[in-house]
Order: sequence, then C-alpha cells, then structure tokens
Amino acid sequence: MTDCLFCRIIRGDIPTKKVYEDEHIFAFEDIDPKAPTHVLVIPKKHIRGLKEATPEDAEIIGRCHLTAAKIARDRGIEDGYRTVLNVGPRSGQSVFHLHVHLVGGRDLGWPPG
Ligand code: 5GP
Ligand code: ZN
Repeated sequence: MTDCLFCRIIRGDIPTKKVYEDEHIFAFEDIDPKAPTHVLVIPKKHIRGLKEATPEDAEIIGRCHLTAAKIARDRGIEDGYRTVLNVGPRSGQSVFHLHVHLVGGRDLGWPPG
C-alpha cells in the first residue's frame, strides 16, 4: 500500500535500523523502544492487523513469530521475552500493518497494561 508507513519502510522510503530481511519478512528496531530489545517483525505483504488476517495468512504470521524467536536467540535474551500483537485502537495499535513486537532484555511484568 502506497500510504502505509510500514510498507514505505519495507520499500526503503523511510530509513530504519534493519535487523533481518528475507523474501517474506522485514524486521527493524522500534523508533521508540520500550525495552533494551524492541524489534518490530512484519510481513512484507500488507495485512491491516490480526483481526483482518485470513487463513491464507497463517503461515506468514507464524513466520513472524519464528523470526522473533530467532532474533531473541541471536541476542541472548531467551531468559524472558515477549511477542505482542496489539489489535485494534483500544489495545494501542497505532500502525495498521500487522506487526509483531519482540520485547525483551529486562523483567517483564504480567499482566501487561
Ligand atoms: P502499535 O502501537 O501499532 O502496536 O506499534 C507501532 C509501533 O511502531 C510503535 O511501537 C512505534 O514506536 C513504532 N513506530 C512508529 N513509527 C515508526 C517509524 O517511523 N519507524 C520505526 N522504526 N518505528 C515506528
Ligand atoms: Zn502496509
């Protein structure tokens, strides 16, 4: 989508600190990190969010999580991290291109706010 912030990031129109990229996935540092590790893992395919995803998106959503797990392993934060999808405005979703937050590197409270 031309006017989607994260589609523009994938295209390289907006600079980011890239963490990982393959045919299906792009991962980059969050601009406003909430923990020592705060990486956003996104599908290259534009999907508005989890509630708009369809069964054909199951594989790519799984890939996003497995990519987050790989980044966590590479960074040595496997003693505790979280993968989060904010879904809908009441959850705090502010960018409407599906993204998995990988948050870790510090103690994480439960339940989340
Ligand atoms: P949401 O609130 O939709 O779950 O998450 C959106 C995330 O995108 C936020 O954590 C926010 O800091 C991040 N973000 C928003 N704009 C940019 C940007 O231009 N570059 C990067 N790297 N992250 C962004
Ligand atoms: Zn998009």
